[in-house]
Amino acid sequence: MFEKKKTQELPALDVNNTTLSDAGKIIERLRQEINRHNYYYYIKDDPQISDADYDVLLRKLEKLEEKFPGLITPDSPTQRIGAPVEGGFKTIAHGEKMLSLQDAFDFEELKDFLERVYRDLGAKEQDVEFVCELKIDGSAVSLVYEDGRFISGATRGDGITGEDITQNLKTIKAIPLNLLDNSRINPGGNAALPESNPLNAEGKSARIVGIPVRLEARGEVYMAKDEFAKINSNREEEGLPVFANPRNAAAGSLRQIDPKNTAARKLSIFIYGTAFPADFAEYGIYTHYGLLEYLKLLGLKVNPNIIKAKGFEQIKDFIEIWREKRHGLLYETDGIVIKVNRFDFQQRLGQTSKNPRWAAAFKYPPEQQITKVLDIIVNVGRTGTLTPVAKLEPVRISGSTVSNATLHNEDEVKRKDVRIGDWVVVHKAGEIIPEIVKSLDEKRDGSEREFKMPHNCPVCGSKVSRSEGEVAVRCTSITCPAQQYEKIIHFASKGAMDIDGLGPAIVEKLLKQDKIKDAADIYYLKYEDIISLENFKEKSTNNLLSAIQQSKDRPLWRLIFALGIRFVGSHIAEVLSGNYGSLDRLKEAGLEELSDIFEIGPRIAASITSFFTQQQNIDFIEKLRIAGLNFSAGKKEVIENDKITGKTFVLTGRLSSYSRDGAADIIKKYGGKTSSSVSKNTDYVLAGEDAGSKLAAANKLGVKVISEQQFDEMIK
Ligand code: NAD
Repeated sequence: MFEKKKTQELPALDVNNTTLSDAGKIIERLRQEINRHNYYYYIKDDPQISDADYDVLLRKLEKLEEKFPGLITPDSPTQRIGAPVEGGFKTIAHGEKMLSLQDAFDFEELKDFLERVYRDLGAKEQDVEFVCELKIDGSAVSLVYEDGRFISGATRGDGITGEDITQNLKTIKAIPLNLLDNSRINPGGNAALPESNPLNAEGKSARIVGIPVRLEARGEVYMAKDEFAKINSNREEEGLPVFANPRNAAAGSLRQIDPKNTAARKLSIFIYGTAFPADFAEYGIYTHYGLLEYLKLLGLKVNPNIIKAKGFEQIKDFIEIWREKRHGLLYETDGIVIKVNRFDFQQRLGQTSKNPRWAAAFKYPPEQQITKVLDIIVNVGRTGTLTPVAKLEPVRISGSTVSNATLHNEDEVKRKDVRIGDWVVVHKAGEIIPEIVKSLDEKRDGSEREFKMPHNCPVCGSKVSRSEGEVAVRCTSITCPAQQYEKIIHFASKGAMDIDGLGPAIVEKLLKQDKIKDAADIYYLKYEDIISLENFKEKSTNNLLSAIQQSKDRPLWRLIFALGIRFVGSHIAEVLSGNYGSLDRLKEAGLEELSDIFEIGPRIAASITSFFTQQQNIDFIEKLRIAGLNFSAGKKEVIENDKITGKTFVLTGRLSSYSRDGAADIIKKYGGKTSSSVSKNTDYVLAGEDAGSKLAAANKLGVKVISEQQFDEMIK
């Protein structure tokens, strides 16, 4: 997180009065500093300073190099994209360089960009159309499709070469493994597109082109804000370092060595262009807007908030509309991208070594506020982790009032040197998690107090402990009411058992009055227990009782998720429910068997088996059983099939009519299981094209190998 190491202050810069020899020294220091931050940001996914502070450094360097162009070197960070890729992944050379974007930090800079475009084209304002798009704050990727099939995918890397993250990208559901053949949507083959088709509006001779032989799509992989908040809160609870923002979380998730880890992170993508866009003129597509429409027809996910605009005022209006509105989006955006629409204009404008000259990114200023830390309290979470939280003088940030900010852990408080009574800069990480960026020590008057982590749990008084190598301090008592409180809230929450009306305030009262001790006790509450609570009348009591009753029939995956097993989020719970079909079968599952399931790594498998070996958890489950909760995924979800039901499949190679996930879903529907590795427990290996080591393993172990055609026969 930010401010780990305070950046050494660089002197305020007066470019006009800087001599050549001074400039040389300052430039060198700036480059070193920026390259260090590039490394932490692009390679480690763990920035040490805020983007705004980074941008200030880069701007200083740009200004100096502008004044002393003789000092520009090709390896300067102003001339280079990202950071060179490090080992760990194979590399892929991009067909066409993946560029960054020039920034416009205010309307003056935006006007400068527009003027430059008009001047370089020798065109008038009314003759140049722009496309305005949201700037998605994620990680840039390139996706290669050949004959409509997803072949490979890579990070941007240094723009020329990226890391081969094909397997990880395949776990993202929004990335189609096969493109749609739009000539099937318009069964006229190569005939003209219908009038109503948006492509037609863009080029007079637009025609149906079907799937391109090769397509290098460019897009931004992102993590939704709520997923980011969930992951960070889990990481905080587990004592792992948290991600600074959804962009770093997405980039870090994409560069996991094990694709299962990527799959568990729920990433998505927006496609915003392709390599060699001008080549699409051959298909009758002459503009960026037309290209985006075409990409949509191919089944690629393009952001819907895109307009065509002419002139400064129209572009400014779009920027102003999204300044506030973007806070309501499910994903983070950090600006608006403005692109010249016509490909021939784009080509005439060309590019620098780093940016296209036909596009710019208007960056919204970071939403930060200064406020006072009134106190630092300690919360105890579901697994007993103690989290320091700053109580703030309320301030409004990114659309809501903020009065608490997490400080994550003891080390983070020390690193940022946040004291009670301090003035601090606050922002929302990923526009969602209020967080202290830094304390303003120049505003201290000596009355501030340092925070000390308590030696005893603030809720139950038990000793706390910190394991070696961990940042988390935990309460050692498993019966700690604070842990129960958080566990019950999680159990009853919308995403889990969804017990309408059983919110934190009521859980607190029920616990305080000893009416419940754990979540299973909810199902044993009587009318008198609830009506006696403050503010409860006959109707509200009956409503709560009926909500509790209704929740007994929730699908199995919800119950699995509600149990609060470490590392088992809602998605993994669904995977487990699909694979085991009943809580009792899951309870019996062994470590090896669990790790065999695609998306379940050894860490999750170990956590599940350890959960089911603890007697208090077994007792808890028995209490739920006696209360009559649904313990099975239900018969109707499984269609009996004598060839598939109960059998274990391993999928390998490329299938022509199914994606991997699609085939796995079908197997699940018929009551079969899929596993990621071939063993003697495997019944079938379904082998597509280019099947590799798994096919070899099947042959070695004598496991039956079936083709896609044979699989089709099985499910007929
Ligand atoms: P950028 O993120 O500012 O802009 C370029 C990128 O925008 C493209 O590569 C593309 O991936 C993305 N993009 C999103 N939506 C798009 C759309 N609709 N059309 C086209 N592109 C779209 O540039 P960058 O070079 O990736 O990174 C620079 C940014 O990273 C700066 O904001 C900088 O502050 C930050 N950074 C921070 C640190 C740090 O230490 N805090 C270090 C390095 C970089």
